Amino acid sequence: MIPIYEVKTIQIEVTNACNLTCANCTRFVGHHQKPFFMSLDEVRTAIKSLEGFKNGIGLMGGEPTVHPQFAEICKTYQELIADKHKRQFWTNGYGWKKYEKLIYETFEPKNIVYNDHKNPVVGWHQPLMVAAKDILDDESLMWELINDCWIQERWSASITPKGAFFCEVAAAQDHLYSGTGGYPIEKGWWNKTPEQFREQAERYCPNCSAAIPMPKESAHNDCDTVSKSIAEKLEKVMSPKFLKGKVQIFDRKFSRAEIEEYKKDWTPWSHRPYKQYTPDLIEKC
Ligand code: SF4
Repeated sequence: MIPIYEVKTIQIEVTNACNLTCANCTRFVGHHQKPFFMSLDEVRTAIKSLEGFKNGIGLMGGEPTVHPQFAEICKTYQELIADKHKRQFWTNGYGWKKYEKLIYETFEPKNIVYNDHKNPVVGWHQPLMVAAKDILDDESLMWELINDCWIQERWSASITPKGAFFCEVAAAQDHLYSGTGGYPIEKGWWNKTPEQFREQAERYCPNCSAAIPMPKESAHNDCDTVSKSIAEKLEKVMSPKFLKGKVQIFDRKFSRAEIEEYKKDWTPWSHRPYKQYTPDLIEKC
């Protein structure tokens, strides 16, 4: 794992509502009884807490454009993050037509990740709801893999209404399973080494499968892959997707030999064969 002050992006998660329900979503969309929407004051506090952070500040959901105050949030980014190159935006394009001018005013095109999930044969997601502790009996192997987690090293830390987290998937877990919350959203919370955020990693990572080499699944699948202990958690929080039966139970163990085999051509970060920034700006990988 890398220090939070080295991650490429810290996301501000303005909502976990989304117009889509992709399989194995990093925000567990479809499992929440009720989505959250950050207030403008919470967005301001989140941005101010990142003063001095040298890398990108993301505007993230769910789907950010479903937030009823999306326009005001963009204006707040413009006001409080003077360097346009630091502002980043993730969208599936839901509100693109309505907000196009404002989006270009707020973000550089190359700082936008546009992922409309429309092509039914493109889009693969690593399962995230197969608890590592359920499928690996060897605890030292589990931590060896977690300590090298690609999401933590390549993607983002996060701020949600429940606090600040070293990892975006840990943040989503905390929200879904009614966790104890993250760090107080105050200046410099992100100035932490892996030793300093170890307690968060110990709380969330064993319930996650991001770091475990296994086959990717189509984002267009009807259901999420979950292990037994996660199924119990989903039942407890009355997940709508779980209650509709839109999960498939993963109930087996992995050996070290299998992990080594899966590792060989495992590139879970590569979820589509191109990069797309806007509806018209696409580059082959
Ligand atoms: S919670 Fe999951 S995605 Fe985040 S660092 Fe831990 S294993 Fe990786």
